[in-house]
Amino acid sequence: MSDRRVAVITGANKGIGLEIARQLARAGVTVLIGARDEARGREAAEKLRAEGLDARPLRLDVTDETSVAAAAAFIETVGRLDILVNNAGIAIDDGPPSAVSMEVLRRTYETNVFGLVRVTQALLPLLRRSDAGRIVNLSSGLGSLTLNSDPSWPFASVKYLAYNSSKSAVNAITVQLAWELRDTKVKVNAADPGYVATDMNQHQGVRSVEQGAATPVRLATLPQDGPTGGYFNDEGPVPW
Ligand code: NAP
Repeated sequence: MSDRRVAVITGANKGIGLEIARQLARAGVTVLIGARDEARGREAAEKLRAEGLDARPLRLDVTDETSVAAAAAFIETVGRLDILVNNAGIAIDDGPPSAVSMEVLRRTYETNVFGLVRVTQALLPLLRRSDAGRIVNLSSGLGSLTLNSDPSWPFASVKYLAYNSSKSAVNAITVQLAWELRDTKVKVNAADPGYVATDMNQHQGVRSVEQGAATPVRLATLPQDGPTGGYFNDEGPVPW
């Protein structure tokens, strides 16, 4: 068994996920680059390896039960898992809330909500064996009910029903799982990376991936006396 910490980051072939993987690897963690497309995952892992980092590709489509089970079986052969970053996510511009289609709602939840629960359930037995298990769920300020209902919030007009509510669900899941695991060594927190320039927003975001990865990485490497069941951005706790 490796004496280095091992992390899985879902959707790590690009964007914030790739940068989280890079920063964790720089901190001495072996990173498994979760990617639904094998070639994209291999390329991303090779990129990090070329930077001298310990990165390996892991085929993982969060919407596919068989793929998730195969990934869990592979990690068993690695022998340990300390960190799970549930980063994979999709955002679809779905028009005004009253017009959202069931198809978009279902597709969004399939990845952002059901996928996150599926991967977490599959990998939790491994995380429980770690001395410092950490689960980080990529949420968003758009998942905050408090901010969404504040008309003076700068993003108040961004009302993607499917995406925003999927991230509110991520927050709810974070609280409930953290409660269940409160007497274990596994901490579960939600991260708001801010508005980051990635493919998800055609690079309109105002923050860099380096900035966006900072809070998820901090939560993935929390000390034993760190929080669990929280929702954080770079400035501290985000209101639910
Ligand atoms: P991105 O560049 O579009 O990357 C999304 C990643 O998720 C890609 O690697 C994508 O893989 C992967 N993915 C999508 N569906 C998947 C599936 N079924 N199985 C496995 N992987 C899948 O987006 P990003 O901005 O880095 O977003 C990362 C996370 O941060 C998301 O959860 C997002 O909601 C959250 N977030 C982003 C922002 C922002 O401003 N960018 C703000 C708040 C929260 P492919 O390359 O194969 O499509």
